[in-house]
Amino acid sequence: MSTVTAYAATSATEPLTKTTVTRRDVGPTDVRFDIHFAGICHSDIHTVKAEWGQPNYPVVPGHEIAGVVTEVGSEVTKYKVGDHVGVGCFVDSCRECDNCKAGLQQYCTGTGMVGTYNAVGRDGEPTYGGYSGEIVVDEDYVLRIPDSIALDAAAPLLCAGITLFSPLRHWNAGPGKKVAIIGLGGLGHMGVKLAHAMGAEVTVLSQSLKKMEDGLRLGADAYYATSDPDTFKKLAGHFDLILNTVSANLDMGDYLGLLAVDGTLVELGIPEHPMAVPAFPLAGGRRSLSGSMIGGIPETQEMLDFCAEHGVAPEIEVIEPDYINEAYERVLASDVRYRFVIDTSSLRGE
Ligand code: NAP
Ligand code: ZN
Ligand code: ZN
Repeated sequence: MSTVTAYAATSATEPLTKTTVTRRDVGPTDVRFDIHFAGICHSDIHTVKAEWGQPNYPVVPGHEIAGVVTEVGSEVTKYKVGDHVGVGCFVDSCRECDNCKAGLQQYCTGTGMVGTYNAVGRDGEPTYGGYSGEIVVDEDYVLRIPDSIALDAAAPLLCAGITLFSPLRHWNAGPGKKVAIIGLGGLGHMGVKLAHAMGAEVTVLSQSLKKMEDGLRLGADAYYATSDPDTFKKLAGHFDLILNTVSANLDMGDYLGLLAVDGTLVELGIPEHPMAVPAFPLAGGRRSLSGSMIGGIPETQEMLDFCAEHGVAPEIEVIEPDYINEAYERVLASDVRYRFVIDTSSLRGE
């Protein structure tokens, strides 16, 4: 076992503080890597604030992890020392169920996916995430970061990127498709960039017009404020696909009414409380309400390669670990432009 420096939450209300956690020794199929950057996802905040149930404190969040391989196990074939790699939301799964075999490890029905943090690894020890100096992960759950993507920009792709890429692909976003993204935060801004790169017509639905210039620069064709009731009149029946990235409850009826006949609203945000879904706008347009969770390992690799090919990268604000608690407050205030990424070099003792 090795000891690494990390930032952890010890309760739902205390700020995250510096601590140490242990990492297992490198097993035959494991990769150890130095974490260079870790993105801050709103899911980290939901988890540490116990909005998704009581977590197992201490929680070391971070599931947008990018770094450089420092050691590989004797049977590792995919990676070597010096490779640029990443880890997303899970570090293991059963590998045997139909979903795992199909590369949809996020929907594992065997053991369930093993979360990168706040879960229990196959060694029986708690998993700790990316707000730390290094990590040990089985090579099958490690992604290759293409050389053309800088490590700081690569980190948010491992959750925010794949979470938008997967439903855009599944619901065939592309030329001729009208796609709306609700919420221009970490997930939402990746949705705009990816949908634009896929050739779809993209509209941002944000609380206000404050970030309109940014949204259009990121690739949106149109931008509307949801605080303006006219938005819902103007855009009624307009979209083939709506991706909701909002971390809080919305009036689903309003948004379902924006779908064309046979359109789909995909729920990506996971707010603390259930949302009411009125039946009329669903039935009166043969509309669908669906959900989607991150993406499997093969699709995550496909997304990274797509981003390299199309020059897609997140807009990031790189911070030091001692700014994490302030960054959390700014995410909660929708004041993120558009992903905080922690430079973890000080946690590696450099
Ligand atoms: P984020 O950066 O905070 O972005 C959320 C955006 O939603 C905000 O920037 C804001 O955009 C909008 N928003 C926030 N509060 C709102 C409110 N009360 N009413 C209306 N709009 C509001 O968060 P994120 O990291 O992108 O994550 C978003 C959600 O997705 C979280 O619930 C997270 O847990 C979840 N998530 C799900 C998956 C998955 O696999 N399904 C993966 C990662 C994260 P505007 O200012 O533009 O309105
Ligand atoms: Zn996430
Ligand atoms: Zn499985």
